[in-house]
Amino acid sequence: MTKAPLLFISHGSPMLALVDSPAHRFLRELGTTLPRPRAIVMVSAHWQSLNGPSVSLAEAPPTIYDFGGFPPALSQIVYPAPGAPGLAADVAVQIEHAGFPVRRHDTRGLDHGAWVPLSLMYPDADIPVFQVSLIHGAGPQEHERLGRALASLRDQGVMIIGSGSLTHNLYEFFGQPIESPAPQWVTEFADWMFDHLGRNEREAVLGYREQAPFAARNHPTEEHLLPLFVAMGAAGERSQPERIHHSVEYGVLAMDVYAFS
Ligand code: ZN
Repeated sequence: MTKAPLLFISHGSPMLALVDSPAHRFLRELGTTLPRPRAIVMVSAHWQSLNGPSVSLAEAPPTIYDFGGFPPALSQIVYPAPGAPGLAADVAVQIEHAGFPVRRHDTRGLDHGAWVPLSLMYPDADIPVFQVSLIHGAGPQEHERLGRALASLRDQGVMIIGSGSLTHNLYEFFGQPIESPAPQWVTEFADWMFDHLGRNEREAVLGYREQAPFAARNHPTEEHLLPLFVAMGAAGERSQPERIHHSVEYGVLAMDVYAFS
């Protein structure tokens, strides 16, 4: 049996759900071309927990509107995909066996890092989905190790998605139109990732904060890049990451999507 897909998705602004753009169109198309998974585990930049990862066991995860200042139409989108409590409970045990203390949540819903891309890829909301959180304060290596604990899910037909943003400096975000060109500090960082991730140079990528150009400017805080390291861990040492989409929105949000085979 072939492994289920493994992706890192840049979810950009929540408006991605509503506004037509190259990234919006790409995600719509992607859902129709990938082999259909049995379930999806989402690791989103918008859920972090202290000390260790949390796992959501919600049966019917509610749609969470964890943003402000956007048009009301965005908060009217409901993404009613079923949860996967049985599978999520198994995964929680699996993560514990990998040495992480795990917290279980019975009601936690889908944050916008999860439902925005899923609403484009799978608009029928008919694939069970559950979330695993990031670990607050932990860095790339720890999240790569968390990803390794999820790797075997792909053999069970479960798609793994890390949802963050390849670049994410919101201090320099507000005000530009969506089609603004990327400044050099964004382009150089995205190009560096393309070069090093594309060659699966794992040490370099895990050490991006010291090695990549303008790393701290693109990620003043790290949470939007951490799902990438979870994906790398789930992919394993011999994986072949491939950039399957590249675009930039609002000048500062690289919308790159990577698939790991
Ligand atoms: Zn985000």
